Amino acid sequence: MRKFTRTISGVTPVAVMTEPMKCPGQCIYCPTYSATPQSYTPESPAVLRARKCDYDAKKQVELRLKILSEMGHPTDKVELIVMGGTFLAYPQDYQYQFIKDCFDALNGEESTTLEEAKRLNETTNHRCTGLCIETRPDWCGQEEIDRMLEFGTTRVELGVQTLDDEIYRLVRRGHKVEDVVKATTLLKEHGFKVHYHWMPGLPGSSPKEDLELSARLFSDDSFKPDGLKLYPTMVVEGTELEKWYQDGCYQPYDDDTMINLICQIKSIVPKYVRISRVLRDIPAKFIVGGLKDSLRDVTKQRMKQQAIECKCIRCREYGHRARDGWEIGEPRIVRMDYEASGGKEIFLSFEDENETLFGLLRMRIQSKPIARLGSEIRGNLALIRELHIYGPEVSLKHRNPTAAQHKGLGKALLREAERIAGEEFQAQGMVVLSGTGAKEYYREFGYSSQGDYMVKNLSQSAQA
Ligand code: SF4
Ligand SMILES: [Zn+2]
Repeated sequence: MRKFTRTISGVTPVAVMTEPMKCPGQCIYCPTYSATPQSYTPESPAVLRARKCDYDAKKQVELRLKILSEMGHPTDKVELIVMGGTFLAYPQDYQYQFIKDCFDALNGEESTTLEEAKRLNETTNHRCTGLCIETRPDWCGQEEIDRMLEFGTTRVELGVQTLDDEIYRLVRRGHKVEDVVKATTLLKEHGFKVHYHWMPGLPGSSPKEDLELSARLFSDDSFKPDGLKLYPTMVVEGTELEKWYQDGCYQPYDDDTMINLICQIKSIVPKYVRISRVLRDIPAKFIVGGLKDSLRDVTKQRMKQQAIECKCIRCREYGHRARDGWEIGEPRIVRMDYEASGGKEIFLSFEDENETLFGLLRMRIQSKPIARLGSEIRGNLALIRELHIYGPEVSLKHRNPTAAQHKGLGKALLREAERIAGEEFQAQGMVVLSGTGAKEYYREFGYSSQGDYMVKNLSQSAQA
């Protein structure tokens, strides 16, 4: 039977793994095995799949597309996820080739340049509507940002883990909290979606500090990520942390404490955040200490007992709730404004009266221009960082008028964002950082390609 959950959020994720190479980091908890990408174990499913393809990006994408379509999933809209160590620290030739190979595989033909491959992808059968890269906060400066834009990246997962310089020093993270602030700001200013990896239970922390720092993530304007992956600290065999554990210098929280902590973190996460994963993809046999099992069901139960709720995006998505038998009402537009990283974020969503989420749009208003766009847009800049309609993915060929993806919700969100940007903030232009495969969608609404972005002149459209 078709496994429904994989495409329930509206887009098909395709993970591609880079070949093993040394990461510039030296984090004491990081699994490091020979012939295995850093931070993964030899038997992780993603590693096994990649090894079968000799870590060849093209073969991996082709194989994944084949398997997913055999399982009955639509593969028209794909989110590419680059996995491995710190991709942006790999030799640059490797990086460009890797990304081009991914696009070539989606396009089903080989292009001469990455630019050409991206252009072809705008109208091909397997469109890349999102590209995600993981990186460290100190490998996310202007140079890396520019390169990620060239790749067609739309989402960046930052390895943040904690917000305490003393813990960073202890675990040999090799960067500071100020690097997190800088990276987050630069990413948002360029229109990326920013997700954090977050590790409760690191050496030097306590459940109390973990909870306080988790609250700071959302009370301090310097952070406020769009998404969170919760990775409770595990002791993996062969790591420096394992030695600390054997020597009695480090003790993971017991399961009960960690589960309670996760529940508490989930209960304070704002509605604009998506918690996409709890626990790393590490087979239990490699874990010497810390939580071993997936926490989703246990935390769900515990939160129910304690009468607390997770209001994150994932927990409210239409597709998940429809599958779980929720009664679904009529969607209406909801708006939430908040300050973050030197700009104003406007989170628009379509929700029913139970806060079931049908779609969302993230717009940022900032006075800072985007250097790569030149100086055509003066004054306030409105920047769409995300437009996503939830529900099972609907094939581009087989439009289903009742599916949430095609009820015109995207159009309504876009129109409302343009209205707010023009009327309330006197923004002259709307800029969208879109996946290559979503560019055609924006063209339908009067946007045109400008460098790495889709742009629309709002003053003209107001006169029209
Ligand atoms: S930055 Fe990531 S991959 Fe590199 S050593 Fe640290 S945890 Fe491992
Ligand atoms: Zn949630």
